[in-house]
Amino acid sequence: MINLCFHGIGTPPESVPSEEAVYWITADTFRRVLDEVVDQPDVRLSFDDGNTSDVDVALPELVDRGMTADFFVIADRIGRSGSLSADDIRRLRQAGMGIGSHGMRHRVWRGLSAAEQHEELIDARDRIEEVVDEPVHTAACPLGRYDRGTLSALKRLGYSRVYTSDRALARPGTWRQARFSLTAGDTPGDVAGWFRHGERYTVRAADAARTFVKGLR
Ligand SMILES: [Zn+2]
Repeated sequence: MINLCFHGIGTPPESVPSEEAVYWITADTFRRVLDEVVDQPDVRLSFDDGNTSDVDVALPELVDRGMTADFFVIADRIGRSGSLSADDIRRLRQAGMGIGSHGMRHRVWRGLSAAEQHEELIDARDRIEEVVDEPVHTAACPLGRYDRGTLSALKRLGYSRVYTSDRALARPGTWRQARFSLTAGDTPGDVAGWFRHGERYTVRAADAARTFVKGLR
């Protein structure tokens, strides 16, 4: 299966840092990508950073197509200009979307001190749980980066699923889920290409498994 990750849709507001703005795609591209994948059962969608385009653009398009997605929000940005408010997040949840943590301050989860790790993995989750009034047990690594220490902390703290941006296929049900993030230049054709690559990959893996089993006989 394949995980697709979106960030912002439309024109990024000035509050969005330039290193995040490259992940913004047009509303037209977004709709065409959704149409490309709507009938694919092995596609999962997620949205990082908690931009207001999540509710302004993505939510109605998802609802129109009967699709769901996971939204990873940055705890410290909730209610800020350009970011989802607490009410927006509850609206997403009530529409059947998943809500997960993207940490407190959108800093890289590598080489964190004990205090930083506490803030990113515990305090941020607490704050998001207060908003949705239920447990939060998924996380997405900011900027797609992580290290072994962060992964083991996430596991120890009871996160049931952690999403990266490793541009690889994912196996359903595994704890660590790789994702393909769309960037400004990506087209629906590119996304279709990732699928084709994915199919080849799956076939090769199946062939390898059969070869292995044959080897045991
Ligand atoms: Zn992010």
